Amino acid sequence: MNNQGRPTRPAESGAVETRTFTGNRGLDIEEPLLFEIGRVETTGVDFDLAPSHADRLGPHARRDPIGLAGLTEPETMRHYVRLSRKNYAIDSGLYPLGSCTMKHNPRLNEKMARLPGFADVHPLQPVSTVQGALALIQQLAQALMTMTGMSAVAMPPKAGAHGELCGMMAIKAAIAAAGEGATRNVVLVPDSAHGTNPATTALIGFSVRSVPAGADGTVSAEAVRAALGPDVAAIMLTNPNTCGLFEREIVEIAEAVHAAGAYFYCDGANFNAIVGKTRPADLGVDAMHINLHKTFSTPHGGGGPGAGPVVLSQRLAAFAPVPYVIERDGRFDWVEQAQAQELGRMCAFHGQMGMFVRALAFILSHGSDGLRQASEDAVLSANYVRVTLSDLMSAPFGDRPCMHEALFDDSWLKDSAITTLDFAKAMIDEGYHPMTMYFPLVVHGAMLIEPTESESKASLDLFLMTLRDLALRAKRGEVERFLGAPRLAPRRRLDETRAARSPVLRWTAPKFAQAQSPV
Ligand SMILES: *Cc1c(COP(=O)(O)O)cnc(C)c1O
Repeated sequence: MNNQGRPTRPAESGAVETRTFTGNRGLDIEEPLLFEIGRVETTGVDFDLAPSHADRLGPHARRDPIGLAGLTEPETMRHYVRLSRKNYAIDSGLYPLGSCTMKHNPRLNEKMARLPGFADVHPLQPVSTVQGALALIQQLAQALMTMTGMSAVAMPPKAGAHGELCGMMAIKAAIAAAGEGATRNVVLVPDSAHGTNPATTALIGFSVRSVPAGADGTVSAEAVRAALGPDVAAIMLTNPNTCGLFEREIVEIAEAVHAAGAYFYCDGANFNAIVGKTRPADLGVDAMHINLHKTFSTPHGGGGPGAGPVVLSQRLAAFAPVPYVIERDGRFDWVEQAQAQELGRMCAFHGQMGMFVRALAFILSHGSDGLRQASEDAVLSANYVRVTLSDLMSAPFGDRPCMHEALFDDSWLKDSAITTLDFAKAMIDEGYHPMTMYFPLVVHGAMLIEPTESESKASLDLFLMTLRDLALRAKRGEVERFLGAPRLAPRRRLDETRAARSPVLRWTAPKFAQAQSPV
């Protein structure tokens, strides 16, 4: 342990002595923190001394040296390259996170996004100089409306959750405009929903009424009707849902919601399963966000930059946020100020240009037939997973075909002393990023596997053989393999609870700095 409470050496594995002098394991280099290796007097760049200037900071001027650790240029390169190699990424292996849709990011998209005309534009440039960029945003907007059958689309939201917020704010504005703001303040959310749904609902002042999922993993129209009332503003329903199932009664649910004077918000994070097969507008949807990083292969990044455009029905189109692109006589322009009912802005500018370019590149390079095939292949892959593991692992709704992801629970591990978490950790030793665990909450010890359309059959087969091997070992009672996992990762099990409850956020100089210098 160092004085930050971090283990400084990877733990031992196997019977052979693997402890090395450096702590490195082969070419997997132990990398200390920048503050641990950097020196205040070192810098990778030489700056001229600043000319003397009048200090206008007054009492806010810094009194003490800033103390930032510096590295030389080669040291900087090594530090960040070594850190980057510790990342697991879709470019390094299969990434079966259910609901997250970690599909390959085609290099064509990257090439397009790097074209200077797209990469180097600034949001405050005169519109006459960015006509092509505006045309691209407009073309992507049109494509999203065509695929969904919806009347309008708000491009600015920067993530799925941000899109939810935008769509629900539009619904709230529409309800207020109808004079029902005081009475309609409840949103129905099925208990299988992604956590962002109730969070969005609560953030804008609605209260959540939970709708139980049925024994078959879907929401019934009957359950929705029972929860509807004059106080209901909307339902937020995910389709395909988080159990990987198509909501069979979705049209009946939409009709019941509309008959009660409420709106139908569809969480479209899993649109990738139905693109080219079903149009949300035909299902009665009023608003739906589309995660470009899931359905249209843009990179997920470390929490961003993302893009979550929201498509809106005719009833909600007037409540879209600004700005949006319009075309007049072959010229493109921004509408910065909308009608009286405008929602305002979701962010400073117009959204994530780089993601728009990548998503449109994906759409145009696939064409409508290719997009439909991508949906079909994603569903085929997920069903291959479901069927191949069905004799070993328990699938709560496994008796019917799934959509883009296959859901298993932990009842097959009952009495084995091995949990879903242990199984996931053992996958890391095998070189696989674990699947989504313990979500959705409606099944016990959930394991949600989403292979996506971009894995080859050979890749899926190796993954499935690995899971089968692990499952057989679990059934044979090889408990240690699981409880002690991961053994081969740079770190073993971290105390996540302690990290969350008492995070060490401030670096302090090591107490035994001298001990590190060569003897
Ligand atoms: C991913 C996801 C979201 C949130 O999207 P972000 O882009 O991560 O904010 C919401 N709902 C479901 C079902 C999702 O899978």
